[in-house]
Amino acid sequence: MTGLLQDHVSRQAEARPDATAVVMAGTALTYAQLESQSSQLAQMLVRLGLHHGDRVCLLAEKAPMTIAAMLATLKAGGTYVPVDLASPAVRVAKIVRSADPTTVLVLGAAGARMYSALAPQDVFAPHATVGTLDDAASVDVSITPSFTVGDLSAVDARAPSLRASPSDPAHLLFTSGSTGDPKGVVITHASVIAFLDWALPYFDIRPGQRISGHPPLHFDLSTFDIYGSLRAGAELHLVPPSVLLPRQLADFISSSQLTQWFAVPSALSYMASYGGLPEQGFASLERVLWCGEVLPPRVLIQWMQAVPWARFTNLYGPTEATIASSYFTLPALPQEDLEAIPIGRACTGEELLVLDEHLNPVSAGERGELYIGGTGVSPGYWRDPERSAGGFLPDPRPGRAGERLYRTGDLARLGSDGEFYFLGRTDSQIKSRGYRIELGEIEAALSAVSAVAECAVVGIPSDGFEGVAVGCAYSLAADAALESAALRSALQDRLPSYMLPSRWMPMDALPKNANGKIDRRRVQALFLAAQPTEVVSP
Ligand code: AMP
Repeated sequence: MTGLLQDHVSRQAEARPDATAVVMAGTALTYAQLESQSSQLAQMLVRLGLHHGDRVCLLAEKAPMTIAAMLATLKAGGTYVPVDLASPAVRVAKIVRSADPTTVLVLGAAGARMYSALAPQDVFAPHATVGTLDDAASVDVSITPSFTVGDLSAVDARAPSLRASPSDPAHLLFTSGSTGDPKGVVITHASVIAFLDWALPYFDIRPGQRISGHPPLHFDLSTFDIYGSLRAGAELHLVPPSVLLPRQLADFISSSQLTQWFAVPSALSYMASYGGLPEQGFASLERVLWCGEVLPPRVLIQWMQAVPWARFTNLYGPTEATIASSYFTLPALPQEDLEAIPIGRACTGEELLVLDEHLNPVSAGERGELYIGGTGVSPGYWRDPERSAGGFLPDPRPGRAGERLYRTGDLARLGSDGEFYFLGRTDSQIKSRGYRIELGEIEAALSAVSAVAECAVVGIPSDGFEGVAVGCAYSLAADAALESAALRSALQDRLPSYMLPSRWMPMDALPKNANGKIDRRRVQALFLAAQPTEVVSP
């Protein structure tokens, strides 16, 4: 099915106006309410000057109204940019400057706080439209909004008659960048729709089902929750950020009677390890999906034993190829000695290729770098032709003129069973607690601390639910005195908490390799050899 993302939701609003569309913490919107509120907001945005292709920055907490704001942006012909309100303002400022929005929508106390922190830094264009979407945002005295949510009731509840194209960007999602600046991935309507064309029938998502919305709204996985659920006429149950602990998550699944639970492996591990899998399982669950990092097989087995009636699917894919590009559904409870869960086969419309450094296919079973082609491949990084040229390349195969591949940086092999297997990374990108982190971004932030002479940030594989811990080895400039704890505080103003190293190793000088560069492998080995108690863990 082609068209635009919001059209699919409007169709459901016509078919089942009174059905619940989105719910969180006692606040729910029916399909009719979601449709009318998003149309009114879209009318307001257009009236205040939003043009086709303009960016709308969402300084908005997770809430049903934030989903309405996303749809409103699309109905107005714009591109939304969901922002991580838990990140320090310095980092969010980089994202907002890059996105260059003409409109800012503020929702919730955290949204208002972020707006107040950014506004004095001249991050927003002088004539940017600012709308507050709830009372918590309006009470902040530093905001003089162009409109408030109260103004919307007087606006026509029909969507503006603007047309956009499926190849237009629907949203920009910012991920960690190795140089210290987050990079914006452009995601089009067509790419999301193509993924849903495969996923909805594959998972049999249908009206009345109760779908989880666990990841934050700036994660690309949330795109599947939102549009998968709303296009199918199902109920989207947003998990409030305060529902954090394993037992709370378990209660949420049970009390919301979820039929689908989709989370990063760290969340599944956390639940399995700390009492989040009740003995009686989750009666309502039909399927459990995960994506974003390696799920340890022992955790999968715990889940499959706890909910034997559910279907379990591993989804694999980077943001740059839209939500997920391959899938593997477990045919049966695996043996205890299962070494790795395959990332499986390409979703319809996508292609996985394992190539060598000359872009030639490696033989079946050989390790190579994984490239993705097909409908999910993003047009590139936002306003960054250099990085785009590095990550996205013309398909080198004969007869593929005009087609492109995304270079994932992942290592993989094609197994004799016809399934692809993930084998790690070619670079220093890691996943920790499900978050994608370029270690270079942490090093760039450390380099800005004048007391630091040298530093190396490495990923340390761990048995804990975080999967990979972040370790920082550093030496100080002559005469500088700084404890690891003080260094961590200095970083806190620049990096989100999930990027802060949890293990520290002060050194007189960092180990070097033959050509004088910091030997990161050696640093990693030192961390692996050290007992966690030997290093400072603030
Ligand atoms: P993100 O853009 O945050 O979705 O991160 C994409 C990266 O996460 C991929 O390039 C992989 O390194 C990793 N990843 C995603 N899904 C999986 C999976 N199912 N198994 C292992 N690694 C994964």
